[in-house]
This record gives sequence, structure tokens and C-alpha cells, in this order.
Amino acid sequence: MSQQAQTATTVPSSRQRARLELNGLRRSFGSYNALDGIDLSIEPGEFIALLGPSGCGKSTALNCLAGLLALTGGEIRLGDQRIDTLEPEKRGFGMVFQSYALFPHMTVRKNVGFGLAMRGIKGAEADRRIDEALALVRLGSQAEKLPGQLSGGQQQRVAIARAVVIRPPVVLMDEPLSNLDAKLRLEMRAEIRGIHDQIGSTTIYVTHDQDEALSLADRIVVMSQGRIMQIGTPEDLYQRPAHAEVADFMGFRTRLAGRVVSVSGEEVLIEAAGARLAGIARDALKPGDAAVLSVRPEDLVAVDEGEGIPAVVSNMEYRGRAFFGLAHAGDGSELFFRADSHLPRGAAAKLQPAAGRALVFRGEAQ
Ligand code: ATP
Repeated sequence: MSQQAQTATTVPSSRQRARLELNGLRRSFGSYNALDGIDLSIEPGEFIALLGPSGCGKSTALNCLAGLLALTGGEIRLGDQRIDTLEPEKRGFGMVFQSYALFPHMTVRKNVGFGLAMRGIKGAEADRRIDEALALVRLGSQAEKLPGQLSGGQQQRVAIARAVVIRPPVVLMDEPLSNLDAKLRLEMRAEIRGIHDQIGSTTIYVTHDQDEALSLADRIVVMSQGRIMQIGTPEDLYQRPAHAEVADFMGFRTRLAGRVVSVSGEEVLIEAAGARLAGIARDALKPGDAAVLSVRPEDLVAVDEGEGIPAVVSNMEYRGRAFFGLAHAGDGSELFFRADSHLPRGAAAKLQPAAGRALVFRGEAQ
């Protein structure tokens, strides 16, 4: 840890050590339920990622936590205090948005100090806390600049400093890296996790990027249509998605609808896309059940021999270690696969899930 960072470390307050409880959160817009009963208990200091496709309710959940949107049902508690009835400033949460939302006419120092001034913290104490927050995001030397004179990454670091300077029990982040280029996104990811670890606040981070969620969070909450589909550690979700939809989100791009032929322990054989394919059952299944087989591109392999899905190659690209491609089965199913050598467009291929790598769920593929 750098000396600058060390000086910025603060001792968590009792509010920072409080558990955040979301009990049956609901938010409707007319007849539409954007949040349809969210239950979640978050330990103090946890880094939680809310992950899900566009429109699943992530931002609505975050805005309800911040107090920018009222709930239409349920309650939020911080420790033993009910907070969903409080105005946003009374909750005292830090917020970081995709758009930075800095005051363009104020210097970096004034932007960071704004929340302190609103709370009546002035003079030497404010200066000390602003310096700490700027050191934490490594912007000490930029304090007198205006936001417009900074890069996108620097502006987002100002926004983070402004959120943490008030020593909030909870920091809410809504896709904070989406406006940055790929390289900066990676750098800022590491920085955000580092800042979280130092300040001791709980962080709730909204993203639709599974890599971001996997690399940052202690636990990931996967949402769909206003509900929680699965809560787990990154390892849980990556290796053991509980639903085909979560698997889809975790990179199991090929999704084949079929019927169960046989079940033996956790191994299940299904008939799909013109082949018999083995996978690991993620639901209780019996022969004849409708099922979905999900597999990642790196685990669906072009083979010369053995059982495989007969397919025609549509497209292939070289990605350093292997070739990855898209092929179509006779029934039109899309197959994202890996091969050791280049296969021309239109070539016939036989694709096989690697042993133990495909997952089988109950139900029809969408
Ligand atoms: P994205 O990743 O695209 O931001 P999201 O998961 O954050 O998506 P929300 O912004 O929370 O999704 O929206 C959830 C649903 O609620 C969407 O269907 C959206 O159209 C609807 N919604 C959100 N805000 C309003 C509003 N003010 N009035 C009506 N419907 C709304």
C-alpha cells in the first residue's frame, strides 16, 4: 500500500459496521413491477454486484436504496434503523453514477468538499478530509483543476472521492466504468476494489458486465425482471449457475433445447440438435423431461470422432490460443464453439461438449 493510500485509511464508524437489510422491496411504475420482491441481507463491508440484463431493475433497486425513488412496498434497514422513509441526505450514502455528475464550474477540491459543506463540516477538518479522499483516488495534484480539464478516468475518480469523503456506511455505484475505454476500465476496476477495501464501507455496484461483477464482488446478485435469480460468490455463479438464464449471463452462450434420454447420478444424457449429449444435471430430471443444455464456447469443441452435434460453420476467428467460431445445427440452433485449427465458412463440423462441462436445466430454451 502506498503512503498516500495509508493516510487515507479511516476507521469504520458504527453505521459503517451496520448490516443492510432489503426486505420484500417493491417498486412499480403503473402496472409494471420494476422490483418484484427483493430480499437481500448485506454484511457490513461487503462488495455486492447487482448483475443482470438491461431493464431487469438494477438501477431501480439502487435508486430506491439511495432514496431517489420511493418504494411501493417493503422496507430497507441499516442496522436497527429503518431508512427507506428517510430523505436521501439523511441516509448518508455515497453515490457514483455513470455520468460522473460533477459540478463543471467548481474545482476538484470544491466538488469533493461539497457533501461536507452540506453537512456543515468546514475549515481544517474539511480540508483534512478532502486531502484524504483525493489521496485515496491519487488526485492530490489535480485539486485546483476544473472537471473539464481532467480525463474521463480522472473525473470518475473525483466522483468516487466525493462519494467517500462523507464516510458513508454504503457506497452505491451505477455502472461507473461504462463511459471509459477498455484499458482504463480494467485499471479503474482494480482501483475501485482497492478503495473499497481501504474505507471499510459496504459497496453496491450495478453492472451488466459479468467480468466486472466476477472480478470485483464478494457476492453477485443476478437479477431478471425485477427479481433475484441467484445470489452467490463469483465462483458459485461461474461454476454452478442455478438457472439456464443465469448460465447464459455467465458465458454459457450455447443453449440447446432437448429431451432427457437417461439420468445416472448427476450425469444426464439429452437428445438435442440432432445428437445425444452428456451434461451435469442442475435440476432434478427424469427421462422424457424437456431440458436445456448450456455450454461455454471453450467447452464445445470441434472433434473428428465420437458423438457430436452435426453443424455447418458460419464464422470463425483466431483468438491467440485457439480458434473460436459460430456454427448452426440442422434445426437452426446457434453453436458457439472452439477448434484447434481454422475451419472455412460452410464446412461441416462435429461439435462435442467437453466431459463434465455442459450443464443441463429443466425447461424449454428461449
Ligand atoms: P439498464 O442496465 O438498461 O440501466 P436496469 O436493469 O438498470 O437497466 P431499470 O432502469 O431499473 O433497469 O428499469 C427496470 C424497468 O423499469 C425497465 O423496464 C424500465 O423501463 C422500467 N422503468 C424504470 N424507470 C421507470 C419510470 N420512471 N417510469 C416507467 N418505467 C420505468
